[in-house]
Amino acid sequence: MSSMEKKVRVRFAPSPTGGLHLGGVRTVLYNYLFAKQHQGDFVLRIEDTDQTRFVEGAEQYIYDCLTWCGITPDESPLQPGQFGPYRQSERKEMYRQYANQLIEAGYAYYAFDTPEDLEKMRADFKTESNPSPQYDGSIRMQMKNSLSMSSNEVQDLLNQHTPYVIRIKMPENETIAFHDLIHHEVRFESALVDDKVLLKGDGMPTYHLAVVVDDFLMKITHAFRGEEWLSSAPVHVLLWKYLFGLEHMPQWAHLPLIMGPRGKLSKRDGAKYGFPVFAMNWTDPRSNEFTEGFKEKGFLPEAFVNLLAMLGWNSGEEKELYTIDELIEKFSIERVHKSGAKFDYEKAKWFNQEWIKKLDVDDLLPLVKDMFENKDVRISDDVYFKTIIHLVKERCALISDFYDQAVYFFMAPTEIDVAAVKPKWTIEKANFFEELSSKLEDLNEWEVSTIEEIFKNLAAEKNIKPGELQLPMRIMLVGGKFGPAVFEIAHLIGKADTLSRIQSALIQINE
Ligand code: GLU
Repeated sequence: MSSMEKKVRVRFAPSPTGGLHLGGVRTVLYNYLFAKQHQGDFVLRIEDTDQTRFVEGAEQYIYDCLTWCGITPDESPLQPGQFGPYRQSERKEMYRQYANQLIEAGYAYYAFDTPEDLEKMRADFKTESNPSPQYDGSIRMQMKNSLSMSSNEVQDLLNQHTPYVIRIKMPENETIAFHDLIHHEVRFESALVDDKVLLKGDGMPTYHLAVVVDDFLMKITHAFRGEEWLSSAPVHVLLWKYLFGLEHMPQWAHLPLIMGPRGKLSKRDGAKYGFPVFAMNWTDPRSNEFTEGFKEKGFLPEAFVNLLAMLGWNSGEEKELYTIDELIEKFSIERVHKSGAKFDYEKAKWFNQEWIKKLDVDDLLPLVKDMFENKDVRISDDVYFKTIIHLVKERCALISDFYDQAVYFFMAPTEIDVAAVKPKWTIEKANFFEELSSKLEDLNEWEVSTIEEIFKNLAAEKNIKPGELQLPMRIMLVGGKFGPAVFEIAHLIGKADTLSRIQSALIQINE
């Protein structure tokens, strides 16, 4: 069967070492979109072979982020398919036979060097032109390994259970070329790549061996990952060639980096410029370092997915707002740009604002309600709350903006912008509001039109332009110069609240 006819199977293969960065979630998304477009499978494989980098809670965090984004893997540790286990640490026994196979064929070797030997090598071979010497073809014969030692010596060491690792033997003068769906023809000179460790002293494979073995055993057809892995690709291509045959190798796509205001987007950029770079809040249990997430910052998952898809890819259309189903239809890996994608926080907020406008009030309700209740504002009447959401949603770029835009519907402002009223305040205006209060008090029907009529008639009677009175009224009810139509606000907060806010504001303004 040719690779074109095989069922598409892609994987996201994170190492659970911390929070998920924008780039990580974009890798998930591109894999997912591609799989769904081709009626294929999206596999989540946890690459946890490096036990020293294990971080409590990081795996659960990955599941939570995917769930938040609305992405469900077809196979994962939580939902195993026929290619399990899906955690590399649970597959430990599967890898050794491949390492042995490589040794037997002369593509890998035992290395007995101690950490001190390696340190000495780095010091001894350090030159000005080669400040960090690697364990490679130029050095390996001077180290303690099964290439430099006699087979008897090697056998003795093995019999004595001397700790060892297994390294790949990089060929001397080979050009390793492969086709990448984004970078097209990629070439590496084998002599420039070091003899990477494949199997460690503890019997665990390194990422390099595990990724190739698992992509083979899990029948992965396309491997999309961040560009930071491009330099490891020659090792992976050789392992494919030596172990399984290049015809079975997945098609590669190395996704461009996401750029921040200065170079590669980093956690530090987020902290410095005040925007999230992680999908969800993450606190590193080792250092207690906290990194803010898009979710908690007030982004909608629909918007997050949409803006991530556009970071480094374009559909070729004018349109910018896409649902995940539309993205599944439109996405193409060939349209992913080669160069880094610039993250622009203002543009990210624009996407969110557009999605807030686009979503129904019913969809926004649980999110906005949650946010209010987290700030200790209890919402008892959903119908009333939905009216408020509808009224202010055009003004909100983030879910958290709903609080400032709407909290005055639930409690009197704690502070009002007296300075905005004071310079043009007159005794006539003060009298107007006193009289307005008593007229409103007598009102039986608390409707927008009747409130407005009383207000405007009284202004005409007093010969004051209604426009000059509406701003003070707004400040009294809302606290600042924002919000929807002021009579609408009075109507919604009700008679008692309108009157009490006018009264307490008058005291402050008249002071
Ligand atoms: N475990 C690697 C990571 O953490 C996976 C890279 C790949 O997809 O091959 O990103």
